[in-house]
Amino acid sequence: MLLGILKESAPGETRVALLPGSLKSLVAQGTNVLVESGAGEASGASDQAYTEAGARITSDRTSILTQADVIPVVNAPASADQALLKPGVVVIGFLRPLDAPGALLSAIGRPATLFSMELVPRITRAQSMDALSSMATVSGYKAVISAADRLPRLFPMLMTAAGTIPPARVFVIGAGVAGLQAIATARRLGAVVEAYDVRAAAGEQVRSLGAKFLDVDLGGINTEGGGGYAAELTEEALERGRDLITNTAAHSDVIITTAQVPGRPAPRLIRRGAVEAMRPGSVLVDLAAPAGGNCELTKPGETQQINGVTLLAPLNLPAEAPVDASNLYSRNVLNFLGLIVKKGELTMDLADEVLAGACVAHQGKPVNPRVAKLLEAVSTT
Ligand code: NAD
Repeated sequence: MLLGILKESAPGETRVALLPGSLKSLVAQGTNVLVESGAGEASGASDQAYTEAGARITSDRTSILTQADVIPVVNAPASADQALLKPGVVVIGFLRPLDAPGALLSAIGRPATLFSMELVPRITRAQSMDALSSMATVSGYKAVISAADRLPRLFPMLMTAAGTIPPARVFVIGAGVAGLQAIATARRLGAVVEAYDVRAAAGEQVRSLGAKFLDVDLGGINTEGGGGYAAELTEEALERGRDLITNTAAHSDVIITTAQVPGRPAPRLIRRGAVEAMRPGSVLVDLAAPAGGNCELTKPGETQQINGVTLLAPLNLPAEAPVDASNLYSRNVLNFLGLIVKKGELTMDLADEVLAGACVAHQGKPVNPRVAKLLEAVSTT
């Protein structure tokens, strides 16, 4: 079995799917590993480190695409790369099957077996493969660091001979994995933190990190969508959240917003009025930008100045901490590979709950029913 590691080609991508440290157990099982030269460079892994871990290095990307039996990736390969894939190859990565299913058509047709890290079920057994949580952890941390860097004030309260400086006030919207890490990071820097989430379960986690949880009466509607995720809310419930956010924004120096509903555009929670209510110099980081953004003024990928407020809408914060982001991702991928590579051979039991949940396409056909429906819509437009 040949495992291929590509240099990621998406603009701005610095992560790599597998680091040398994750190769040892695979190589010991007899797996051959072929790595594109420079694949790990930005993540601190030289070609030599891969060679020492037992891999071969090549500058010929095409030879990896055409020969590898398994290709772990960070992002879905471009269409031109997909067209070269060996029939029957297994590709594993953040393939965006729910928001960009059409971009996978070429690979599905090879046919390739596609596993999406976004679709790995959030069950206890698969926690070590939860790459979404790994990347959300990095993003939550980085969002606070970016905001602290731009804020014309300090985060901690300082009592000095020259007087007292009050702590910065940080408001976190969406207390999931990224939000909780943002809260923890802001608290470590000494800020006073408030947080809002529609899931009642988030309240206890927020409080345990020393932040204040802001409760909104949503009229008793169900806010849990299963798997720990939020449900899509009614317009009336969203409006109550927007009112709370507008009121809280007025006294916040920093807002980090992370609210998402899987497979749906990010809920629009922050009105223009809320941004305009913030003091000049305040910073808003919209981590939901890849799904359109939580703020109605967000332009994904762009930084804007609005009435003196800096609005950041980063699309790939994990790529700004590639060493640790790749480290976490690589371990998630290695744990996933443990389900399909046994004694150096590819053996897939698609009845396995984790594999069945993560499988996007197999033998030329979409497996995941949501992806199948989306692809039908793509082919009829
Ligand atoms: P996510 O990225 O889909 O959403 C981020 C947060 O936004 C969530 O907490 C969600 O409740 C919140 N949100 C959605 N709509 C909102 C709205 N209108 N207003 C305010 N907040 C809104 O979710 P995530 O961070 O990936 O995961 C959410 C939760 O899932 C985690 O906190 C955890 O409890 C659970 N989880 C479980 C496992 C596991 O069991 N293996 C793994 C990871 C996460």
